[in-house]
Amino acid sequence: MTEKLSNPKKTIEVIQKHGFDFQKKFGQNFLIDPHVLDKIIAAAGITKDDFVLEIGPGIGTMTQYLAEAAREVTAVEIDRNLIPILEETLAEYDNVTVINQDILKLDLEALSQEKNGGRPIKVVANLPYYITTPIIMGLYESHVPVSSITVMVQKEVAQRMQAGPGSKDYGALSLAVQYYASPYIAANVPPNCFMPRPNVGSAVIHLESYQNPPVSVKDEKLMFALIRASFNQRRKTLLNGLKNASDLPFGKEKLMETFTKLGWKETVRGEQLTLEQFAQLSDALTERHRASC
Ligand code: SAM
Repeated sequence: MTEKLSNPKKTIEVIQKHGFDFQKKFGQNFLIDPHVLDKIIAAAGITKDDFVLEIGPGIGTMTQYLAEAAREVTAVEIDRNLIPILEETLAEYDNVTVINQDILKLDLEALSQEKNGGRPIKVVANLPYYITTPIIMGLYESHVPVSSITVMVQKEVAQRMQAGPGSKDYGALSLAVQYYASPYIAANVPPNCFMPRPNVGSAVIHLESYQNPPVSVKDEKLMFALIRASFNQRRKTLLNGLKNASDLPFGKEKLMETFTKLGWKETVRGEQLTLEQFAQLSDALTERHRASC
């Protein structure tokens, strides 16, 4: 077996051989630390039964680990300059398919059907940081069956995903992620584990999907619109945030009536509310909206 790319010398050798130029616009920071790679694979809990979707394989460093742990891997890479490199670095693995595509444009439903018969897939990635949130929310909102997502993200973003009410990191991303999954930070990763070094600290977060969401809500879309509106104007009270939101139809009076019914003060702020309370608010407004139609 040839030497792995997690050895920094091997990464430099491959990059020089192919005359590869790192593209900042694609968030290219390649992993060069075998311990971090072991931690990611362990956190993802991959077995030989699993189909794994890797987002952004780069030169294939993590793909080599995934190919050894999983039944099958599909790696989706946007940068076409990396495709000939991947052909070489992954040549000895017959369970890896590389797709040259933008992950945000890929038909994930078709992929999961084709590769895994529609059964839940595992997603593992050292994500390009410029599109972390659209990638994660895109995966959840596509309703493609996903059993877990294990990803390297900017440390602050990992903290936001894990945060609870009252903390400064708590926001729309925390609530959205926690509606779909239970998050835990598996490792903090310093810049020197990457080539080139990013300007920020990183963390590996594991998001284990719920079978069913932890709260039930009549109108999921309305709940997320309320969440977005209440954190869009963070310094305002919930009441002002919601009555000013252009995509919500509720006036001050209706909102105040609903708050009173729920036993909330007029001064309540979105950052104090749990996911369950946002669901309660959404359901109460759904009823009031229907009653007045
Ligand atoms: N997995 C490799 C590693 O750990 O060394 C590379 C990780 S690097 C942080 C992010 C990778 O995602 C890059 O290879 C980049 O070209 C790729 N990428 C960026 N935007 C993408 C997109 N929209 N769709 C697919 N891949 C993307």
